[in-house]
Amino acid sequence: MTADEVRYTDVVCIGAGFAGICVGAQLQRQLGVDSFHIYEREASVGGTWFKNQYPGVMCDVPSIVYSLSFAPRRNWSDLYAPYQEILAYLTDVSRKYDLERRTSLRTQVTAAAWDDERKRWRVTLRNVDSGAEFAHECKLLFTGVGQFGRPRTVEDLGAIGPERFAGPILLSTSWDHSVDLTGKRVVLIGNGCTSCGFLTPWCLVSAACLRTLSILRHGQPNPPSSRRQGREHRATFTKQTLDRTRRTPGAGRHRRVHGTICAVDRAYFP
Ligand SMILES: Cc1cc2nc3c(=O)[nH]c(=O)nc-3n(C[C@H](O)[C@H](O)[C@H](O)COP(=O)(O)OP(=O)(O)OC[C@H]3O[C@@H](n4cnc5c(N)ncnc54)[C@H](O)[C@@H]3O)c2cc1C
Repeated sequence: MTADEVRYTDVVCIGAGFAGICVGAQLQRQLGVDSFHIYEREASVGGTWFKNQYPGVMCDVPSIVYSLSFAPRRNWSDLYAPYQEILAYLTDVSRKYDLERRTSLRTQVTAAAWDDERKRWRVTLRNVDSGAEFAHECKLLFTGVGQFGRPRTVEDLGAIGPERFAGPILLSTSWDHSVDLTGKRVVLIGNGCTSCGFLTPWCLVSAACLRTLSILRHGQPNPPSSRRQGREHRATFTKQTLDRTRRTPGAGRHRRVHGTICAVDRAYFP
């Protein structure tokens, strides 16, 4: 395709995380719309669950309720599934709904403008690897860009002076797995779900660190994750809960969700 050619589909979706995959599947399932394309700037679908691969990353709601309504998954290995499973789940859904051939990876949307005369969006795209730009027009533009696409970097921590620190600086969104933290003194900045996940007792990396120091802007740790953090070992679904959700596929999502949360609360958050 030359730079002058303009692609066209009825719908364009920006992002191939939970939102983009859901839109791609539902356009076909519910509306019978085939004319759509998804653009994703990363090298894989999955969004949050592709970007965040730091040790201890997992969902922080019971994983049995963290799946798409039309593609429920019940055989999670853990009450809070690790990112690998969520990423594999999203990849499977994308494959199942034939979204791979309708998704362009490593392609970033850089601009979008509404042409009122032609009643179309003109979306400008850039190939992340080659830098080549091209345009795609559509009638409906869906943004599934998520909330965590622009994480704060060490440069944002000006006051701390990262340039004066000689050790490695790791970011949760681009974790360098080659850095061995065994026996190291680690300073953890932040106290949200991410840092609580990292500090969980079952996270082997944090267990191997000599000492960790958390820097908190607010004194209060993140409530749901700190409850999780206090547990000594990983929790799993009870057989009874899993059997119940398997037996009641059509009993309504709400009952499944309610039943599960109550069971989980009673069992793990006494
Ligand atoms: C560590 C972590 C744990 C979480 N745990 C939970 C949980 O337990 N339960 C829960 O409900 N939520 C959780 N969340 C929130 C989670 O982000 C959402 O549940 C969900 O994954 C968001 O999906 P999304 O598709 O809206 O956005 P994302 O997953 O962020 O996907 C957006 C995609 O859009 C792409 N994109 C952005 N801009 C462009 C552009 N200009 N051009 C092309 N592509 C672009 C991004 O690369 C990304 O792949 C967690 C988040 C994090 C970071």
